[in-house]
Amino acid sequence: ATRPGRTPREVATHCPYCALQCGMILREETDGVTVLPRQFPTNRGGLCQKGWTSAELLDHPERLTTPLLRDPSTGELRPASWDAALDRIVTGLHDVQQRHGRDAVAVFGGGGLTNEKAYALGRFARVALRTRHIDYNGRFCMSSAAAAGMRAFGVDRGLPFPLSDLGRADTLLLVGANPAETMPPLMRWLTEQRERGGRLIVIDPRVTATARQADLHLQALPGTDLAVANALLHIALTEGYVDADYIATRTAGFTAVRRTVASWWPARAEALSGVPVADLEETARALATAQRAIILTARGAEQHAKGVDTVSGFVNLALALGLPGRPGSGYGCLTGQGNGQGGREHGQKADQLPGYRKIDDLEARAHVARVWGVPADELPGPGVPAYQLLDSLGTDQGPRALLVFGSNPVVSAPRAGRIESRLRDLDLLVVVDFLLSETAALADVVLPTAQWAEEDGTMTNLEGRVLRRRALRQPPPGVRTDLTILADLSTRLELRGGGSADPHTVFEELRRASAGGLADYAGISWDRIDAADGVFWPCPADDGPDSPRLFTDRFATPDGLARFHPVEHRPAAEEVCPEYPLHFTTGRVLAQYQSGTQTRRVAALRRAAPDAFVELHPDLAERLGVTDGEPVRVVSRRGEFQAPARLSPAIRSDTVFAPFHWGGQARANSVTNDAVDPVSGMPEFKICAVRVEKP
Ligand code: SF4
Repeated sequence: ATRPGRTPREVATHCPYCALQCGMILREETDGVTVLPRQFPTNRGGLCQKGWTSAELLDHPERLTTPLLRDPSTGELRPASWDAALDRIVTGLHDVQQRHGRDAVAVFGGGGLTNEKAYALGRFARVALRTRHIDYNGRFCMSSAAAAGMRAFGVDRGLPFPLSDLGRADTLLLVGANPAETMPPLMRWLTEQRERGGRLIVIDPRVTATARQADLHLQALPGTDLAVANALLHIALTEGYVDADYIATRTAGFTAVRRTVASWWPARAEALSGVPVADLEETARALATAQRAIILTARGAEQHAKGVDTVSGFVNLALALGLPGRPGSGYGCLTGQGNGQGGREHGQKADQLPGYRKIDDLEARAHVARVWGVPADELPGPGVPAYQLLDSLGTDQGPRALLVFGSNPVVSAPRAGRIESRLRDLDLLVVVDFLLSETAALADVVLPTAQWAEEDGTMTNLEGRVLRRRALRQPPPGVRTDLTILADLSTRLELRGGGSADPHTVFEELRRASAGGLADYAGISWDRIDAADGVFWPCPADDGPDSPRLFTDRFATPDGLARFHPVEHRPAAEEVCPEYPLHFTTGRVLAQYQSGTQTRRVAALRRAAPDAFVELHPDLAERLGVTDGEPVRVVSRRGEFQAPARLSPAIRSDTVFAPFHWGGQARANSVTNDAVDPVSGMPEFKICAVRVEKP
């Protein structure tokens, strides 16, 4: 076993990809970098194939090692010096802000950036550029669960308990989550749970790899999870399962919820969702009679125009059963991106300042402004959520210049064809990445940045556990870190507030900025993380405890009580019709990650999942006259994409599925709906109306 910390040519660190942040050892060998799993509480020595192959990109031939500038005469990207690239950016930013005002420049971040980078990016936007326009791709990930958690519990931490609780739950309900493909090492906890006699219940429109392992699978029509949640609470009420004492002493607002769910008798939910009444009853009873029960949601439930309300439906159920705060029980969200949790705490979100503070809160502004050394009234106000920002680019109302860090919206945004054309309309597009993503390919300037094994920093995983990412080696010649790029830009722009290029210095400032906030890191030092291999926030004092488990005595609301929210089912923003008669939904596959920029370039992953596909039920394929492997075109009101048909009885015959990891002709997000949740700004990725035809 290797202890955490650095030994020569070997470091204990974490996987660069998802929010499980599996522990791994990176070892520099004569012929490259080797990945070895290590014992860490989330993965317990396991890695998925993405983690095993993650070092391949460090020396990848397609790696960017020099800035690229678009040649105005040929329209092509050409290698350039750092001086030339930074000069082009500085001139462009000055020009745009002089002609159109400060808000004409926008910054777009990512949920994979370290805490230090997320923090520095927010500071750079608000203090150096003084624009209100900053948001990030996490808005497309877990923003609905974050908003629902915030309004129910007063704080949003993906899992308010350690992941190990999953192994102790007698009943575990997963809603729109497929960890067998997205976070395989997490399945060890689920195996342990079932070996102890626990029950696993999955709600998903597909018979996913996770659903196949479930004791009970509720194959609900996409967009009907909220009706299912209300029906489950209706059953719990009717059968006398709700925890009256818990509701009376630890919550507020139940009466309105009781009235709302009164009309959600199980047969009504069955008619809407297709889930049999008997299965709804079995689920409600399994949750209510368990000693320990956990409800987890993920993107399947959350990526809807009613995503916040859908999550609230399951939070209501959890509260009514008295689960949150009880050891081995509760509600949680399986955050997706590597730093999906930390990425939303430190100020790269349009409405937030570091410490998970609200940007329109005067006290919060004063505190952060003091740390930043600027007058509070000079800090810009809230910006707009990611899709609204991207959709305004290049228009009369929107920013004319955009800096993108760690994101690929050309593939990952809904209605992606429209966003692509917005990006093309910009006066200046700058992309900071280590590979030429589809978004970078449109840029005026591309800056090559360091990879995860080439810089120090911290990440916060899905449990709210702050971890150390450790550098194995220096970035290759010609490559700079994101923090260096921000510092260099600030210097050249002759703007204050550029901050340090040193991640430890940035983290120390982050600690001060977060002090007293919801996500309080004041007592978390790198040394403390090293000693314990992770520290849970909130952790306000150097010598005080951290917080692996929240809500045991009180919630983070002013009166300590959790809040119920009455929520009603409503139809999807776009319903099927004769012209577009099928439901369309998206998701991930085991061997690919997010927009695929990285994983599509890893040989073993490409072999495992080389191409996009369109999953069709055999009955539907027969009706369409389509055979397995035959190319099909999926068409919605917003666009179309093409990929081979994959026939599978795992999907409902009224629903079509495609993974979203590919761009170009196979870009699933060409058809997805850009309707957004009114509270979170989450787009409706998970349901729209399409037709399928032969090309
Ligand atoms: Fe990496 Fe996530 Fe796979 Fe773990 S589960 S190895 S963190 S991609």
